[in-house]
Amino acid sequence: MKIRTKIAFQFSLIVALILILFSVALYFLIRNYTKGEFTNYLKDRAETTAKLLIKEANVDKRLLKIVDKNTLSTLYAAEVLVFNEKNEIAYSNTDAETIKYSPDLLERIREQGEYVGEYKEKKVVGLVIPNELDGKIYLILAQATDTYGDAKLENIQNAMIWGLVIAITLTVILSFFFAGEALKPIARINQEVSAISGRDFKKKISTGNNRDEIAQLATNFNQMLSRIDQAFEMQRSFVSNASHELRTPLAAIKSEIQVALEKDREPEEYRQILHSLDQDNQRMIQLINGLLQLAKSEQGDTNLMHKPVRVDEVLFEVQEELLSQFDDFSIFIDFEEIVEEDENLTVLGNRALLKTLFNNLFENACKYSSNRTAEVRIKFNKVNVIVSIKDTGLGISAEDQERVFEPFYRTASAANYKGHGIGLSICKRIADIHKGKIVVRSELGVGSTFIVVLPHIS
Ligand code: ADP
Repeated sequence: MKIRTKIAFQFSLIVALILILFSVALYFLIRNYTKGEFTNYLKDRAETTAKLLIKEANVDKRLLKIVDKNTLSTLYAAEVLVFNEKNEIAYSNTDAETIKYSPDLLERIREQGEYVGEYKEKKVVGLVIPNELDGKIYLILAQATDTYGDAKLENIQNAMIWGLVIAITLTVILSFFFAGEALKPIARINQEVSAISGRDFKKKISTGNNRDEIAQLATNFNQMLSRIDQAFEMQRSFVSNASHELRTPLAAIKSEIQVALEKDREPEEYRQILHSLDQDNQRMIQLINGLLQLAKSEQGDTNLMHKPVRVDEVLFEVQEELLSQFDDFSIFIDFEEIVEEDENLTVLGNRALLKTLFNNLFENACKYSSNRTAEVRIKFNKVNVIVSIKDTGLGISAEDQERVFEPFYRTASAANYKGHGIGLSICKRIADIHKGKIVVRSELGVGSTFIVVLPHIS
């Protein structure tokens, strides 16, 4: 069911229920009031007759009958009967023979003293009146059909039914109309969104009045489009950067082979060429390994993310591996305070990825400093393990500090050093998937400190 139909239907149903309840309650209120009013009228008639005939006793029965008969037809044809103690009719305001009454009722009225009920579709009021003059007890019966009241009720009932039908129909029509109006902006957004093609994320949808929830939705949607566009842009530049980086060593290899093939050479020359080819090949392998690592960290293989890993152990392993690989590197690892609980240095994560993270940072620190030295310090607080890697090397300018974490970004001063600019983007991603972060403090020409913060398990 469409939202418009749903809203209109639900709203109409609620309004219809309220109207019906209200009308039924009102109808019964009016009916009770009308009935009460009529009962009072009959009582009044019975009491007036009692007063004139029994209590006053000096009013002429015939005269009263004439007066009664003449007033009967005016509003209600109320029949009034007065019975003596033997239940014989002592007075009737019309021809007694034509009046139908319930003889059984008379006894009951005498017992109860007063009676209000119905007999043959007529409302009946019975009163027992003692006559102080002759000491006898009379019974007065007043009965009539409430034609005026019934007609009034029927009119009210009809008016209510028609009123309800018209009000409900109007509610349905209006609620359909207003629901449609309220949902128009959504229909518009729908149309605009369908018009956005697979790659055209630069398009924006209009935000209408900029105030309501729908404008908010459009704004959020536009922000999402911008983020998707940025991601696509990054992807595009990533692919073109990666291709460029791969093409450079390949082009070098190609030209070296071409030069080598130009003429016959001495074995020593071939050896040199092969050595140079090997170096280029090595550069390519490194780059491809880096790209693979990045892809791996992008996947963030969550299955592998739940193992406890001692950060200090990882640091020592990386130190050992790098020192055996590069003779001129110096890596010093220091604890800022004595560690009493292992949990303070243990994180939940992936050992191989953490090794990659620290390997990149240690290597950069040694690579970009003339003394080839990295100073590593470990500390922790209630929540995190904090590892800082300090060097006194090239340093990074304030503008470059954010950008060095972008894939393939290299600072101008690093141009003479080997590298592809993807190591730090891998580090950032690995820190992210360990719910940690990595920041850099650096001054150009003075040195850099990379700080890795990872939440520990205690
Ligand atoms: P690569 O070192 O392969 O170029 P990285 O992603 O590891 O790639 O680093 C990106 C850039 O950040 C480097 O090219 C360099 O310009 C800068 N950089 C990284 N670490 C340091 C450091 N310790 N000192 C100075 N510059 C650094």
